[in-house]
Amino acid sequence: MKQILFIEPVLKERIWGGTRLNEYGYDLPSDQTGECWAISAHPHGDCVVRNGLYSGKTLSSLWNDHRELFGLPDAKEFPLLIKIIDARTDLSVQVHPDDAYAAEHENGAFGKTECWYVLDCKDDATIVIGHNAKTKEEAEQLIREGRFRELIREIPVHKGDFFQIEPGVLHAIKGGTLILETQQNSDVTYRVYDYDRLENGKPRELHKEQSLAVMKCPFRPKLGKPVTYRVGAAQVDHLITCPYYSVEHITLYGSASFTAGKVFQNISIIDGQGAIDGVPVRKGDHLIIPAGYGIFELSGDLQVIRSSPCELMVK
Ligand code: ZN
Repeated sequence: MKQILFIEPVLKERIWGGTRLNEYGYDLPSDQTGECWAISAHPHGDCVVRNGLYSGKTLSSLWNDHRELFGLPDAKEFPLLIKIIDARTDLSVQVHPDDAYAAEHENGAFGKTECWYVLDCKDDATIVIGHNAKTKEEAEQLIREGRFRELIREIPVHKGDFFQIEPGVLHAIKGGTLILETQQNSDVTYRVYDYDRLENGKPRELHKEQSLAVMKCPFRPKLGKPVTYRVGAAQVDHLITCPYYSVEHITLYGSASFTAGKVFQNISIIDGQGAIDGVPVRKGDHLIIPAGYGIFELSGDLQVIRSSPCELMVK
C-alpha cells in the first residue's frame, strides 16, 4: 500500500526576504527569509519526508532508490520544484533560457519554465512580466543605454492572479507579494536589471549577453482564463498545462475525491485546514501523492495548489 509523503520544507534567507512565511507555520531562520523550498530534490535544498516508512529520507534519495513512487522511470532528475516566495522588497529582473540554449551553454542543464500563483499582495503591488521593446535591436539599445525602466513591462497584480513564465520572458516579483511558484527543477537564471542597487557597496553582476540571446522579442502576453469545473464539493481552476507541468487551484468546503494515476502529484495547502484520507492537514503543509496511489479524498475548508509533471518530461 502506497503512502502519502508529507514533505518538510527548506527555508532560505534572501536579502529581499521578510517574515511572512511564518504565516504558514514555518520556523524562520531570520527576519530576511525569502524562500520556502516546499517540494524539492535539488541539491541546494533537498527536502526530507516527515512521516511513515520513509521518515527522515531526502526526496532525492527516494527518487534514486524508490522510483516506483514517482512513476517516471526514464527521467534523469526529479522534475519539479515548488517554492513559496515572500518578497519584502523587489527581486531583480531575470530571464531563463529554454532547454536547448541551457543544454548548449550551461553544461547540459535544463532551461526553466515557471509559473506563479499570487497567494497575497499589498494593495498597490506590481509585477514585471515581459518588456516593451518591439525588436531585439530595440531591446539591445535600451539595455546598452541603461534605459531599463522603459524596457520592462510592469503591471498591477492581485491576490489569486496566475502567470505562466516561459523561457525568454523577463520577469520579477516586486516587494509586498507572496507567491507559490511551480517550476522546472533548474537554477539557470540570467539577471537583466537590479534597479541599480548595491550589495556590499557593489552592483550585482548582470548577464546582458546571455539575457539578450534568450529574450523573446517582441513580448506577447498570454491571455486566457482558467477552465473551472466541479469535483464533489470542490471548485477546481485548471491554471495551466504546458510541456512540463499541469497546475490547478482547488477551493474546497466539504469533501471531494481525486485520483493519482501514472505519475505523482504535488499538493500544497495554501489556506485552511482539513484532512487527506483522514490525516489532518493545514495551511503550509506540502505533500506528494505517489504514482499509482489511486483515489484520495480531501475534506475540510481548504485552498490547495495541485500540480503534476507532464509525461513529456521523461528524458
Ligand atoms: Zn524566474
